[in-house]
Amino acid sequence: MSWFKRDKAADSKLPKLEDKDRHVRTEGLWQKCEGCRQITWKKDLEANWNVCPKCGHHTQIDAVTRLRLLLDDGEYEEFDGCLRSSDPLEFVDKKPYRDKLKEAEAATGLPEAIVCGRGKLEGRTVEVCSMEPRFIGGSMAGVVGEKITRAIERSIQGNHPLVIVSASGGARMQEGAVSLMQMAKISAALMRLDESRIPYISVLTDPTTGGVTASFAMLGDLNIAEPGALIGFAGPRVIEQTIRQKLPEGFQRSEFLLKHGMLDAVVPRTEQKQYISRALRFFIG
Ligand SMILES: [Zn+2]
Repeated sequence: MSWFKRDKAADSKLPKLEDKDRHVRTEGLWQKCEGCRQITWKKDLEANWNVCPKCGHHTQIDAVTRLRLLLDDGEYEEFDGCLRSSDPLEFVDKKPYRDKLKEAEAATGLPEAIVCGRGKLEGRTVEVCSMEPRFIGGSMAGVVGEKITRAIERSIQGNHPLVIVSASGGARMQEGAVSLMQMAKISAALMRLDESRIPYISVLTDPTTGGVTASFAMLGDLNIAEPGALIGFAGPRVIEQTIRQKLPEGFQRSEFLLKHGMLDAVVPRTEQKQYISRALRFFIG
């Protein structure tokens, strides 16, 4: 016989502890690195531009942080910040595209999946377009294409080099052909930039896929990528099913693409500013 009898009636009077109350809340203070699985203090990670101080794994950064990383004193003049999608197809899937846009705007504080600005990069004026991976997967829609094209036109007018940082799942299907035609529009504008002999540096980050890879991301005078970034056109599963072959290790990652001549360099995030500055000095003195 047990010497201790649990008083169930008294127990039921105690305030019930929910599972979430049993833990000290540290949510948001720490982050697990996807590279080394170690827990890092989030502030340390952010201070190192979201590059793991232990293993060098690159975690995504948002479009505005990216501009701050590349431009002197983090300062820039933004252009076309008021452009918004008009939902040309009045598209509805699980929910209306208009609602999706509103949610993305609320989550990111941005009206579209790209921020375009002009600033100084080690003293030299440049036009920079920075894609926002959290805005509907950084997808390229009509407004994204228009903003990039206008940035290219500003580059030509002002004779400033152009840098585009890609982070995108490709064309945005909710705008159908309007999204797809941005590939041709931007490519044609880049052709005019080339004829004006103004350098364009493309920075590919994780992920750069679909119509973005198939157009402007691969059209730079220099195409550089962040370490370990997923870069490709179709996803690996689709390719495996199509060619009925197992894909090699590291397929569609920056280092694999560099080895096979698809990229000019793999440059860690913290060295990109210096690298781009040196490249521009080489191109235009
Ligand atoms: Zn790590």
